[in-house]
Amino acid sequence: MTTLTDCSLTAVPSQIDCDICIVGSGFGGATAARILAVAGRDVVVLEEGGDFTGKSLTQRDAAMYDQLYVQRGGATTQDMGISLLAGRVLGGGGVINACDVVPAEDAIWRMWQKRFGLEEFSPEAMAPFARQALADLGARPIREEQINRNNAILRQGAAALGWRGEVMQHNRADHCKGLGTCLVGCPLDAKQNARITLIPKAIGAGARVLCRARAVRIEAGNSEQKRVQCRSLDRRGYHEQQAFEVRAKIVILAANPLGTVPLLLRSGLGNGHVGRSLSLQPQVPILALFEQPVDAFHGIPQSYAVTQFATCDEARGHGGFRIEGIMGTPGIVGSLVPQAGVAGKELMTQLRNIAASLLLLPDESVGRIALGGAGQAVVRYDLTAEWRQRARQAIRTAARAYFAAGAKTVVLPTVPPKMWTCEADLRQVDALSLAPATLPLLSAHQQGGVRMAASEKDGAADPTGRVFGTRDVYVMDSSGFPTTASSHTMAPILAVAHRQAARLAGRSKN
Ligand SMILES: Cc1cc2nc3c(=O)[nH]c(=O)nc-3n(C[C@H](O)[C@H](O)[C@H](O)COP(=O)(O)OP(=O)(O)OC[C@H]3O[C@@H](n4cnc5c(N)ncnc54)[C@H](O)[C@@H]3O)c2cc1C
Ligand code: SF4
Repeated sequence: MTTLTDCSLTAVPSQIDCDICIVGSGFGGATAARILAVAGRDVVVLEEGGDFTGKSLTQRDAAMYDQLYVQRGGATTQDMGISLLAGRVLGGGGVINACDVVPAEDAIWRMWQKRFGLEEFSPEAMAPFARQALADLGARPIREEQINRNNAILRQGAAALGWRGEVMQHNRADHCKGLGTCLVGCPLDAKQNARITLIPKAIGAGARVLCRARAVRIEAGNSEQKRVQCRSLDRRGYHEQQAFEVRAKIVILAANPLGTVPLLLRSGLGNGHVGRSLSLQPQVPILALFEQPVDAFHGIPQSYAVTQFATCDEARGHGGFRIEGIMGTPGIVGSLVPQAGVAGKELMTQLRNIAASLLLLPDESVGRIALGGAGQAVVRYDLTAEWRQRARQAIRTAARAYFAAGAKTVVLPTVPPKMWTCEADLRQVDALSLAPATLPLLSAHQQGGVRMAASEKDGAADPTGRVFGTRDVYVMDSSGFPTTASSHTMAPILAVAHRQAARLAGRSKN
């Protein structure tokens, strides 16, 4: 076996032995793989997605959704109220994300420390890991000339109303050409994601990485030697093929809450907290029509955020909301336009004149992942009354920013859609029910499900990420987050994975 093996193309031995088996190759898994391989550990990484870089990232919505997203982009909560977006590809969500780097604030580390007993997560203790996370990402501010018209319009509206905002920092290399298709992968490999940066380093240090390799169950999770039951997948990742087993002393789960939690549940591992305390951070899309072309699909999709209404303190964590300019590919926008038939087509013919934002509203960890009959994740999530009220406020606020920037119509893609032409129309916002599936909510920042806490009565994993009731089965992705860490997840995921993996690397081999 070479160090990067596509199991759809190469026969896999029926048994693979290693020191540490890591499930998932996103920022969490790849960080752990690199640190532990560099420390001399024998590491095997399992990733069920395929390997896509450069020209294989074709910028075609349908093909890329099919290959790069969990459930081909069609995953939702059980009531179909929230679309669950996550990566299913070597390198994970970073291959398809918008590159915004927003580290966790000190108040969050402090809250985790005080509320959940994560003593070693003080801001001071986390600072070196947070710095390493930013260095891995190559995070830096976006240059003024890289802010596209879509984001500039939002900034203009906010400035006219005197609201505070920020130009984001990103993990893009200099050769980013602003092609605008980040959400279906970067054909220039300009995003500094795990596939481009961390995985080659892990392989360079001796890690064996298997793609199109699905972990289906962990056996003997309480014993010294664990057996991870796996299946290779076919070339497109549709069907399971060959069964094989990975034997390891340490198993690290970094498969995103949507993958980590079902794997634990299928394996019968962990306590009653597994699957609970899930945060989805639902996001609300809002569109605005302008007389002049916006051409929002040109340039870096997301670069400016209105931060005036976001709050964060160590008692309550994140609150309020952020408004972030963003544009997707035509397929994504088309899926957010609620009109059917001719009306929908007509709105899409105005794509050049559409500006768009997402309203990011942090949430309480009120979601839950359970197992469906076929062993798949079933995600239950009820919006709280407080969240809905905040969402109404965020919708009204974003609409005002667009009117201040000169929008002729603000479109909220409810069913049927709201088309507001002046501020007086915003009175309708109070009457929005936000009942399931009446507005296309999105979740791209799933967190929790295997909450870390000092005591087994408060969580599913201890402060090192070890799942309670197991011997050396760890979580090193956002599953372990006790609450939502930041408005964007990759920087905190990297920081926490750095901490946990460094701790394991420092432990003697036996
Ligand atoms: C469209 C989109 C935009 C986003 N934008 C931003 C942004 O701008 N900034 C930001 O900070 N965050 C953003 N995020 C979130 C961020 O990208 C993710 O939180 C982060 O990448 C998750 O990293 P991870 O390592 O925890 O897991 P993931 O990257 O989700 O990786 C998990 C991997 O595990 C694999 N897997 C799952 N189950 C199994 C199994 N049983 N066997 C083998 N492999 C398995 C999956 O295929 C996947 O590749 C965005 C996410 C999306 C989807
Ligand atoms: S905007 Fe930059 S990072 Fe995004 S796809 Fe285009 S070139 Fe790649």
